Amino acid sequence: MTPGPSSGLSAQPATSMRTDRGGDLRAGDVGRSVSLCGWVARRREHGEHLAFIDLRDRSGVVQCVVDGASELRSEFVVRITGTVRPRPEGTANDDLATGEIEVGDCQVEVLNQAEPPPFPVSDRVDADETARLRHRYVDLRRERMQRNLVMRAAVTRALRAAMDGQGFLEVETPLLWVPTPEGAREFVIPSRLQPGNFYVLPQSPQLAKQLLMVAGLDRYYQIARCLRDEDLRADRQFEFAQLDLEASFVSQDDVLAFVAEAVLDATEAATGERPGEIERLTWTEAMERFGSDKPDLRAGPELVELGPVFVFAATGFKAFQAPCIKGIRVEGGSGDFGRNKLDALTDRAKSLGAKGLVWMRVKPEGELESPVAKFLSADELAGIVARTEAAPGDLVLVVADERPTVRAVLGQLRLDLGRPPVSEGERRFVWITEFPLFEGLDGDGRPVPAHHAFTMPHPDDLDRLESDPLSVRSQSYDLVLNGWELGSGSIRIHRADIQSRIFALLGISEADAEARFGFLLSAFRYGAPPHGGFAVGLDRLVAGYPHGAGRNSVLLYVRRGANPPLYIGVDLARR
Ligand code: ASP
Repeated sequence: MTPGPSSGLSAQPATSMRTDRGGDLRAGDVGRSVSLCGWVARRREHGEHLAFIDLRDRSGVVQCVVDGASELRSEFVVRITGTVRPRPEGTANDDLATGEIEVGDCQVEVLNQAEPPPFPVSDRVDADETARLRHRYVDLRRERMQRNLVMRAAVTRALRAAMDGQGFLEVETPLLWVPTPEGAREFVIPSRLQPGNFYVLPQSPQLAKQLLMVAGLDRYYQIARCLRDEDLRADRQFEFAQLDLEASFVSQDDVLAFVAEAVLDATEAATGERPGEIERLTWTEAMERFGSDKPDLRAGPELVELGPVFVFAATGFKAFQAPCIKGIRVEGGSGDFGRNKLDALTDRAKSLGAKGLVWMRVKPEGELESPVAKFLSADELAGIVARTEAAPGDLVLVVADERPTVRAVLGQLRLDLGRPPVSEGERRFVWITEFPLFEGLDGDGRPVPAHHAFTMPHPDDLDRLESDPLSVRSQSYDLVLNGWELGSGSIRIHRADIQSRIFALLGISEADAEARFGFLLSAFRYGAPPHGGFAVGLDRLVAGYPHGAGRNSVLLYVRRGANPPLYIGVDLARR
């Protein structure tokens, strides 16, 4: 079994109604008389008068032997008083933590009756998702769901402890807030007292935490609720929680160290193992080697630059006279990929935007077999083998095109060729640093921030801000786990003059900036310290652990496509 967080239960279960939790009982309790409370998980008749009741509470399940229990049904809420005794010889159940014992001579008090549940409370039954959401309170009785919530609580506990330990102060920031240019669509709340005005729910506490830095709080954190009115996806909900933090008088390295401490502690709490130091790649390295700004370092081959193999524009193969040529080596792939599979790979590459895909099989003597081999010189063929380090039996896949296309296509193919689920196998965290400040131009030709409008440009690139904005790097960074983006952060702009230059580039006029975030700009005029921060998505982090179970661990879960939207079993209110 994977070591995981403890059950998260306190050691003091007794209340005026019970002495113990049933799932906690062990052989050492034999002889004790106990009172237990919980739900009837299962009832098995044994002869006419004897019944075995599996009693479930949050700690687990224990078998109770009851005389004449015929009125008991599944999910009845009961109080059972009896004596702990060893199970009869040969009937111990190794699969159950309480499997060596049972509770005998039981008196049963029905605390509440229950209708038959809408689906069995069992991890073995795959119930319909809508039913699970509509009756989430029944769904959450399942062991797996409870384990997910226990895991999530263990993770938040570890994160808090790590932040407290590093001198961060937990501060709650307002939920009724104002629009901020962070990139997501926001939920709007009409104001009753000032008709025509409205609040906005925070897409993150970004500006609030920056104000806290101006206020001299020095190190802030919060398990923050963020609300974004965006299209739902498997890893995207309207509301989610993140470990949000900000610190003053720090460099990027300081922020990465704070976050690493918290995330590695949480990982240890969740899995029992502390991963080693988190690797680092610049954005450019990640894009060149893995074709992605959220690379999965576990799986698949790296992208190899093949440009130097070809004398510029002189190769006999026209398609290789492209700005960028890269290849990936599929170890031992030669035999696995017959003609049909190669055609399917080519179609896939085309659907990802490539004009084509060149494949090459490495024959036993080391020469390349490929439909395009006859167009390439011996030096070029040898160069491909040398650069990709391909060995006999390997397959080499090559794409030639504009650089972004080559990266995107091969970046996806390397994942298609074999990628374990996010929570399985090793856990490879990686920092991606030096993102471009802007990710491209919008329809009006204005740069679009890659992170958000408060991100500090790289100091070496500041003078190109207006002349060549797309070449400017930022001081922003992401944390990635097994190909999932867990969170982002940046060193912020703390000087009003740089902030004004960014707003000007984004087409936000001075008057507009003053009207929308005058509060921030004015704060910056009253002594803003250099500062930076980060946010780690909590559910994404938890989903990276075994049994983390991704969105299933989210209590507040919205059913996609349901109309009206189903919000953890509650229909949206209608006016
Ligand atoms: N506010 C950012 C976010 O929610 C995180 C940060 O830059 O600290 O993604």
